[in-house]
Amino acid sequence: MTGLTPRVFVDFDGTITKADVGNMFFRKFGNEEESLKAVEKWKDGSLSGAGLLIKEAAFVKVTREEAMGFAKSCEIDGSFKTFLSFCTANEIGVTILSDGLDFYITEILKSNGISGIPFYSNHTRFETTRIEIELPHESDCTKCANCKGYQILTQTGPDDVIVYVGNGYSDRCAVQYADVVFAKDDLLKYCEENNITYYPFDTFDDVLAKFSKITSSGNFRKRHRAELKRREAYLTE
Ligand SMILES: [Mg+2]
Repeated sequence: MTGLTPRVFVDFDGTITKADVGNMFFRKFGNEEESLKAVEKWKDGSLSGAGLLIKEAAFVKVTREEAMGFAKSCEIDGSFKTFLSFCTANEIGVTILSDGLDFYITEILKSNGISGIPFYSNHTRFETTRIEIELPHESDCTKCANCKGYQILTQTGPDDVIVYVGNGYSDRCAVQYADVVFAKDDLLKYCEENNITYYPFDTFDDVLAKFSKITSSGNFRKRHRAELKRREAYLTE
């Protein structure tokens, strides 16, 4: 045993859910063409994460009831619940970090019988037939509205081994500080391009197969580059 404790952080859209719920919501109730253009600008760095959300939200026409009905129809990866049970049985903390919106996270977790997991996301205020975005976790990061890297830095301590599971560009800030990374889709490409060690996964069955092996060996190790990045971030604060 290394005396280190794993802390698991999980992305929501396209990681816990089968599809990117935020993108689907903005395409369905907003302006699809404008959303696609804005997402491209965000990916190339010319639009901030906060700017992207506010731009997409400005086109949305939806009532709270319609939005909740849409959320209820979104499916999750069925093996996520098995993964959660494993973490609960082993007293391993799991936190959801999302640059998406709170209303669908709450609704999707509830409709799948998942409770007791903390999550950090952006906030949606419903105004009759439109929405306003509030950013309770805004930081200095220009890439994200709710920076997952910043969340990890503020929520973990020196004895934590940070495990991160994600799939997209909004996970870029998180993985630089994570010791154990599970990646798919755009995040996998990002890890490849930036020499960040990762385990590829498709579903939480794959994550659990690898993670349970690491857990049972008790051999949690910090990733050297992640540790240096964390130290660097604390020093420049
Ligand atoms: Mg995602």
